[in-house]
Amino acid sequence: MGIHGSPTCTMAFGGDEGECIGYLVGQEFQGMRLMFEMMVEARLGVGVQALGQLHGAYQHALRYSAERVQGVALENVKDPDAPRVTIDNHPPVQRLLKRNEALLKAFRGLVFHVANLADKAHDGDDNAKYFAQFCTPLVKGWITEYAFQGISECVQVFGGNGYLEEYPVNQYLRDNRIAMIYEGTNEVQGLDLVGRQIPGKGGMKAMMAFQWITGIFDEAEESQSFAVRQGKKLQELVAGVVMGLPNRDPRDSIYNVIPIQNAVGVLVGLAALLKYSPQYSETFAREFIPEVLGRMHFLAKN
Ligand SMILES: Cc1cc2nc3c(=O)[nH]c(=O)nc-3n(C[C@H](O)[C@H](O)[C@H](O)COP(=O)(O)OP(=O)(O)OC[C@H]3O[C@@H](n4cnc5c(N)ncnc54)[C@H](O)[C@@H]3O)c2cc1C
Repeated sequence: MGIHGSPTCTMAFGGDEGECIGYLVGQEFQGMRLMFEMMVEARLGVGVQALGQLHGAYQHALRYSAERVQGVALENVKDPDAPRVTIDNHPPVQRLLKRNEALLKAFRGLVFHVANLADKAHDGDDNAKYFAQFCTPLVKGWITEYAFQGISECVQVFGGNGYLEEYPVNQYLRDNRIAMIYEGTNEVQGLDLVGRQIPGKGGMKAMMAFQWITGIFDEAEESQSFAVRQGKKLQELVAGVVMGLPNRDPRDSIYNVIPIQNAVGVLVGLAALLKYSPQYSETFAREFIPEVLGRMHFLAKN
């Protein structure tokens, strides 16, 4: 489907006889632990890959929207002689561009935050390590989920041309699709978040995340009040759902791991945005909070 530049193949060792020699790497019975050490980095890498793909698609869409002439400006819609304008004058196109610009800034904020935690963890800070672990499924699962949607919206900016090979965005969409699957599918990330990270260390990891978010909301400037108000509503609902998880039917909690992961992702993404690029927080809040807020409200009540 995509990533045609990648030398992906199936490797069968031992040929038809099934005979091959295996060498022990590291100590016996430590393989899974070592594999996961590598996997954590790979998961963060896939989230950053998706961020880069959305950024590429967004840049192409932005440029195309300033060149493609189609239709007239809204205020001249009844004038048959009105000059034609570029599509970046049309409010629905502006929305597609604005929401993806804000989304990219939130992704960057989250990635900066986790990179910072990883550096501190490397220097022996255990709290930073636990917080980075909490955020890892969000970087992998939430960013890739929303990046695919964002890239699809960039294809939309191109109209019919977006679907054609002559234009670059369709490749971003195809190449990006694997990000939700490999290095642990997003459902597996959701299971990690709900099953291990949220209850991890007796709930301390989740508490740390909520305290960090509350601190950012408290410090936000007046100009970001809309985003903070919406964020607080979402935080309250997410906290209710998360704290209610032990009392829920486990099948139902697991059934909902993707919506929960997305809601926590939007919440942590908003906090990171307020910290690193606050000027985009209102657009982000308007565009991305209502959907997850509605879903969390539904989950909290049912
Ligand atoms: C282009 C490409 C490159 C790859 N590169 C590598 C590589 O270099 N090295 C490598 O080892 N692998 C690689 N993979 C494999 C990839 O990691 C797996 O495809 C991926 O982890 C999903 O496993 P699966 O295909 O067996 O799907 P399955 O495990 O069969 O999953 C199918 C569906 O069921 C869901 N599911 C499965 N189990 C559960 C569960 N317990 N709870 C909830 N949902 C579940 C999944 O989320 C998914 O939606 C690559 C795959 C591709 C396509």
